[in-house]
Amino acid sequence: MIIAIDGPSGAGKSSVSKLVATELGFACLDTGAMYRSVAWQAVHDGVALDDNEALGKLARTYDIEFEHEPGNPSPIGVFIGGNDVTLAIRTLEIDRAVSPVSAAPAVREALVAQQQRIGRAGNYVVEGRDIGTVVFPDAEVKVFLTASDEARARRRVLQNEQRGVGSTDFEEVLADIIRRDTADSTRATSPLKPADDAVHIDSSDMTIEEVVEAICDLARKAQG
Ligand code: C5P
Repeated sequence: MIIAIDGPSGAGKSSVSKLVATELGFACLDTGAMYRSVAWQAVHDGVALDDNEALGKLARTYDIEFEHEPGNPSPIGVFIGGNDVTLAIRTLEIDRAVSPVSAAPAVREALVAQQQRIGRAGNYVVEGRDIGTVVFPDAEVKVFLTASDEARARRRVLQNEQRGVGSTDFEEVLADIIRRDTADSTRATSPLKPADDAVHIDSSDMTIEEVVEAICDLARKAQG
C-alpha cells in the first residue's frame, strides 16, 4: 500500500509520515531529501542551476541511498554518490538551490522513476509535492497536508533548532517558506497541487497525534 502525503514546506509532512509509518508498520520515503541531494551535488560540482540537461545527468549518474536502522521507519542517513549529506542538505543554501533543481524536468524524470521503484517494493508512506498526482496517482490513500504560513515557519524553526542546522530566525524561515511555496506551485513541471481525490487536512489547529490518527483511519478504511 502507498500512503501519499503532499503539501507545502513545513506542513509537518516528515513528522506525520514517520508516526503514521510507525503505527502501521510501513517504511517512509522522503522525496524532498532526494531533490535536496541532487541540489547538493549540483552546488558541489559547480553545475549551473538552470542547466536542465546537466542537472538531469547528475540525477541519473549519482546514486541516492538512505541508511536505515532496525525499528525506525525513517532513514537516519542520506547519501549521494557515497557522500553523507544528511545534514548538508538542510542548510539555507540548499533550501535556495533546491527550487530550480526540482523544477528541471530531466531531474524530475530521473527521480520519479527511482521513487516508483522504491515505493512499489513494499508498504510506504511517501511524502513530497507530486506523489498523489504524478508519482503514485493510484495510491490507496492520498493526503494533502497544509497549515498556515506562520504555523509552518514556527515548526521549521523548531526542527532546525533540533537538528542544529538551517536558519532559526523566524522571519528568514517564513520568507523562505513563502518563496519556495510560490516556486513549487508555479513551476511548469509537476507543480505543487492537490490530487483531485486527495483528502485535505489543515493541521494549523490540530495536534500531531490528531493528524496521525486521521491518516491512519484513512489507511485502515482503505485496507478494508
Ligand atoms: O520536502 P522538502 O521541503 O524537503 O523539499 C524540498 C524541495 O524539494 C521542495 O521545496 C520542492 O522544490 C522539492 N520537491 C519536489 N517534489 C517532491 C518533493 C520535494 O519538487 N516530491
